[in-house]
Amino acid sequence: MPELPEVEVVRSGVEQHLIGRTVAAVEVLHPRAVRRHVPGAADFTGRLVGTKIMAVRRRGKYLWFDLSDGDAVLAHLGMSGQLLVQPPEVPDERHLRVRVRFADAGPELRFVDQRTFGGLSLAELVEVDGTVVPTTVAHIARDPMDPLFDVADTARRLRSRRTEVKRVLLDQTLVSGIGNIYADEALWRVKLHGTRPADRLTAAQARGVLTAAAEVMADALRAGGTSFDALYVNVNGESGYFSRSLDAYGREGEPCRRCGAPLVRESFMNRSSFSCPSCQPKPRARRR
Ligand SMILES: [Zn+2]
Repeated sequence: MPELPEVEVVRSGVEQHLIGRTVAAVEVLHPRAVRRHVPGAADFTGRLVGTKIMAVRRRGKYLWFDLSDGDAVLAHLGMSGQLLVQPPEVPDERHLRVRVRFADAGPELRFVDQRTFGGLSLAELVEVDGTVVPTTVAHIARDPMDPLFDVADTARRLRSRRTEVKRVLLDQTLVSGIGNIYADEALWRVKLHGTRPADRLTAAQARGVLTAAAEVMADALRAGGTSFDALYVNVNGESGYFSRSLDAYGREGEPCRRCGAPLVRESFMNRSSFSCPSCQPKPRARRR
């Protein structure tokens, strides 16, 4: 599943090719690719044709195109979705699901998705807290890389939650874009176990873990995004390579890069958490 840095790699990749271009035709080659667009494929293509792409934006792991008519196209990458920009003469990919042609007859936008968990849909744009977002993204909090992300305020709200800190980090309504991988990396950087009660953290610890999340994602972005799945490639078809520099995630039994203790894997929220048993001790049981 792509995380924020991977989605940002895709966003910046397609942005440079699509801004200001007018949609001439849309072909839906697999109905599942537009299943989230409830009025159906014909409505989707009909409303898209003739609009101009004004911006390509992201919040957390959500990616969308602002259109000139006040709607947005949301791109759900799912497990294996790719947005490719390809010259029209390049043969279709085997799992091509949606093709967008432009009035300038230049490179096409192609949505390719082997497992068909992803898809495209249309939503209206609305203003929330001073920022214009699709209605379907209105409940999603700003992510740590958003220029308007308020670390102090988010840390304060994080400390008001009576649950484990990792659970809060993964809850997209407080801070978005932190998935399992980057939560583990951020917690390792600030030496906190994910099951530490959020309401027992100091203000400095709460700010620290949020800042660490932003830093680890910025590092991943510089490396082109993490890649755990051969299917995930950026807009030019290149895989990211940040996975080589992960400090915690996926390193069960390998030595901690800080203290040398073998990292452990634990089950958490039906997923795996990786941490250093020495640098990130588990909390004591909460007293009643
Ligand atoms: Zn350690």
